[in-house]
Amino acid sequence: MLVVMEAGARPDQIDAIVRHVEKMGLKAHPIPGANRTAIGITGKQGAADPEILETFPGVKEVIRVSHAYKLVSREAKPDDSIINVGGVDVGGNGIIVVGGPCAVESFDQTRTIAEQIKRAGGQLFRGGAYKPRTSPYSFQGLGEAGLEILARVRDEFDLPIVTEAIDHESLLLVEKYADCIQIGARNMQNFSLLKSAGKARIPVLLKRGMSATLEELLLSAEYIMSEGNYNVILCERGVRTFADHTRNTLDLSIIPAVKRISHLPILVDPSHGTGKRNKVLPMSRAAIAAGADGVLIEVHHKPEEALSDGPQALLPDAFAKLVKEVDAIAVVLGRSLQPALAAS
Ligand code: PEP
Ligand code: MN
Repeated sequence: MLVVMEAGARPDQIDAIVRHVEKMGLKAHPIPGANRTAIGITGKQGAADPEILETFPGVKEVIRVSHAYKLVSREAKPDDSIINVGGVDVGGNGIIVVGGPCAVESFDQTRTIAEQIKRAGGQLFRGGAYKPRTSPYSFQGLGEAGLEILARVRDEFDLPIVTEAIDHESLLLVEKYADCIQIGARNMQNFSLLKSAGKARIPVLLKRGMSATLEELLLSAEYIMSEGNYNVILCERGVRTFADHTRNTLDLSIIPAVKRISHLPILVDPSHGTGKRNKVLPMSRAAIAAGADGVLIEVHHKPEEALSDGPQALLPDAFAKLVKEVDAIAVVLGRSLQPALAAS
């Protein structure tokens, strides 16, 4: 259920509803929008009476939300959400480019790549310290030592960090060191991990599972938001199909589909989406043209020596060209690249 407040509703009127809802054993989620606040109500259905809620001062209307996702929907918040990641806005009129290696391999490797990402105009830096690998014998990441490297690089280049958590323990460490917690495709329906991410105080980048429908993706975002963390960024990274000319099939049609029903920003990851370096630039252009709020790109200065995903990593020069081209496409659409943080 959704309680939509009048445009001029006062904070004490909102508080009165929150208190009433909580007294009924339900959870209240005030969602401030550009023109009005809505209060999402989650928990056991049936316990809150819409007719009583409608009598509270400041209430405009009470809407019964029929689909399973509520807090992610445009009914809860008609205007686009803008999520602040370490000082960089994701969503809204700006687009962003996230760049970095698949995995943090060493301080020198990470620093070298971060310097190039910053120089090229990238706003956020990525790199995995915990790698969910298909084979148990593949490189699993440096763990907390990798997070320490990321934090050093962030401080040197003023590049906020997005990095993956694979379980509850790593999530607590990622929250301590990074600016945004990535939940990977393989964990999109790890519901206990989603609940932990919902209790974190930093934003979450939620990647689409490799066979997840739009509704499943939105419900996973709903898990995070229902725990109180409303700062969720979605990410399309390709789904598994019969096609074998690419690693996955990048489903760009999900962008307008998400935009129609959700206020959350969505990024596109053409690196995992195609698995092939030569397809990353064209699919990045297409992603921005289709309305994505940014792209997430794997970059390595020595891809042939990378410990994971070398074949899809762009060289730093190709990344710089990509940043320029997606910016030019954004301008055609009345958008532009967000400014990167100024170096301090
Ligand atoms: C990654 O971004 O490094 C990654 C493992 O991606 P995905 O979860 O989309 O496979
Ligand atoms: Mn990778």
